[in-house]
Amino acid sequence: MQWLQRFLAGRYGGDQLNNALLFLGVVLVLGLSFTGIPWLVLVAYVPLAVCLWRMFSRKTARRSYENAKFLKLWRPIPQFFRRTWARLKGSRQYKYFKCPQCGKALRAPRGKGKIAVTCRECGHQFITKV
Ligand SMILES: [Zn+2]
Repeated sequence: MQWLQRFLAGRYGGDQLNNALLFLGVVLVLGLSFTGIPWLVLVAYVPLAVCLWRMFSRKTARRSYENAKFLKLWRPIPQFFRRTWARLKGSRQYKYFKCPQCGKALRAPRGKGKIAVTCRECGHQFITKV
């Protein structure tokens, strides 16, 4: 067991980017195995190999920098879906519109007629029908 402990000491381990690579690899293995082209499945092992390589890497600062960059790119994606879902759920109760000055997405309860709106972002005041 000692050799294993020594081997793992100082290794980077898992992070969100590794989870994404693992997920991508598994999806690709499953997806590409249906194509019937045997060598194409090898493509799926690329993200899995990168995932393993990152896990056992000793350059932890470099790896966490990569993870931070990945998270910066990834974060807007679930945010977009969460926002779209909330909008679909609330579309009967709320009317959604944008601030004409800064473009910030705003909402107001439906059926109130003409209302005066003050933008939370820039303070611009305008009249809209809801
Ligand atoms: Zn605004």
